[in-house]
Amino acid sequence: MNRPRKVVIIGAGIAGLCAAVHARKCGYAVTVLEQHERPGGLATSWQRGGYTFEACLHWLLGSNPHDSMHALWREVFDIDRLHFVYPEEWMRIEGADGQHLSIYSDLERLEAELLRHAPQDEAQIRKFVHAVRSLSHCPLPSSSSAWQDRLTTGLQLLRRMPLLQSLSQVTSEDYGKRFDDPLLRGLFGEGENAQLAVIALVFALAWVGNRNAGYPTGGSRAVIGAIEQNLQRLGGVLRTGVSVERILVEDDTAVGVQLDDGERIDADWVVSAADGHTTIFDLLDGRYVGARIDHAYRTYKPFPSFLHVSLGVARDLSQKCGCMMHLLDKPLTVDPQTELRQIAFRLFHYDPTFAPAGKTAVTCVLPTRNVAYWSRLSEFDPQQYEAEKQRVANSVIAIFDERTPCERDAIEVIDVSTPATVVRCTRNWHGSMEGWLLTAQTGLRPLPSMLPGLRRFMMIGQWVMPGGGLPSGLITARRAVRRICREDGIAFVPDEQTQSPHTAGGLPA
Ligand SMILES: Cc1cc2nc3c(=O)[nH]c(=O)nc-3n(C[C@H](O)[C@H](O)[C@H](O)COP(=O)(O)OP(=O)(O)OC[C@H]3O[C@@H](n4cnc5c(N)ncnc54)[C@H](O)[C@@H]3O)c2cc1C
Repeated sequence: MNRPRKVVIIGAGIAGLCAAVHARKCGYAVTVLEQHERPGGLATSWQRGGYTFEACLHWLLGSNPHDSMHALWREVFDIDRLHFVYPEEWMRIEGADGQHLSIYSDLERLEAELLRHAPQDEAQIRKFVHAVRSLSHCPLPSSSSAWQDRLTTGLQLLRRMPLLQSLSQVTSEDYGKRFDDPLLRGLFGEGENAQLAVIALVFALAWVGNRNAGYPTGGSRAVIGAIEQNLQRLGGVLRTGVSVERILVEDDTAVGVQLDDGERIDADWVVSAADGHTTIFDLLDGRYVGARIDHAYRTYKPFPSFLHVSLGVARDLSQKCGCMMHLLDKPLTVDPQTELRQIAFRLFHYDPTFAPAGKTAVTCVLPTRNVAYWSRLSEFDPQQYEAEKQRVANSVIAIFDERTPCERDAIEVIDVSTPATVVRCTRNWHGSMEGWLLTAQTGLRPLPSMLPGLRRFMMIGQWVMPGGGLPSGLITARRAVRRICREDGIAFVPDEQTQSPHTAGGLPA
């Protein structure tokens, strides 16, 4: 009887789980190794005092059943069982003086609102909305196995290339400077998160307008839980609380991994869905880098890390917009290197699973690059660490309280996580929230999944595809497994049910 080939996957974030499902479907014996106590990586939420606080998911690309991304998600879990929410008012930007601007999902309505609010910016508004409209039906680079699909996608992309290129060349913050109106400029952001190319915002609005970027009720856990269940049903093995210390290499061929307790796990293929820097420079000791990857890790800019302030509010806030962006007249000091002039609150009143009836889970993400400060406090000065978390929480609550008709004593749960938490739970380089920033330098081109000179090894996830996000996990995972199948001379069967690991037919011995 043929032994099924074995794939070991490092990391059970979205990328690792998607790769595991695909590899099982193709008949591989699959083991996923996750250092944290549960899968999900950055795609996670946690519970405190009867509330669920979502860390990641604001929208999932591919929620529209007619979109090709939806079909890709369907290959790894039953996405049609999710319930998607599509808010009409996607975001509300509020100035310190109480003035506000609504960002609607519907493009016609959005254009009318922007023109009403800022007629002096008419020319730029029309140009911007035109760009969003043009990219509304622009496909992502195809992951399909069929050459006809890849050709169609390629041609569609080619037609839009000048627009894609020009929007990739300018940061969101710089693009925002084209507008006079301060609230409208607020849409494009400023500071760390606004250093990504404006194309990311244009695509986001295009997908929201198409009802292709809905919020799934249950958030990250609903998505991750469904993929995990599918993996179990297919017979894949997920081990949590186990940390990979080394990728074992013999004759420039990956042959397995070694855990930090010394356990050795052999494999025919090793796939790393873990942090890119750790994988290349620690688990492989920097022996297989090559010019392109060396250049990227020396010069590309990662997304910043973040603090996450969560509030359990004993109030029904459903009259408010679910995403409130506040422009501040006085900057918020996050840490000695970081001041923010705008912050966004998410009011999860649209997810009834997150809070008891009549109450609302509220979250606020505060970007920072000062990971060292938070890690040092967390490790060496726990008292000051707690005090600093409390200080930031108080500042955030003061802003929330000022702008939301809600007394402070309605806040019954306060939770703060920091970059030290991100590093501990996901091990992402610099505690980054999404891997590489999409910039003029990175463009939309992925980094190589294979390292030069190393056989039977693949990398997937947000460190391979600039811009990150859950789709990057799915797309890079699918591509990697397709490549593995091709090298092994077996069929890539994304739609098929898995055969028993002991009887997988068609696999070479
Ligand atoms: C605040 C925030 C909001 C976001 N909003 C959205 C959104 O609305 N939509 C969207 O699509 N995306 C969003 N993202 C981005 C998205 O969450 C990430 O890009 C995506 O989850 C990354 O998945 P990944 O599998 O590539 O990496 P990760 O999630 O980082 O997974 C890597 C896994 O590898 C494990 N690991 C690392 N080292 C080891 C080791 N040595 N041994 C074993 N295991 C290891 C880690 O513990 C982790 O579980 C958001 C992210 C943040 C932080």
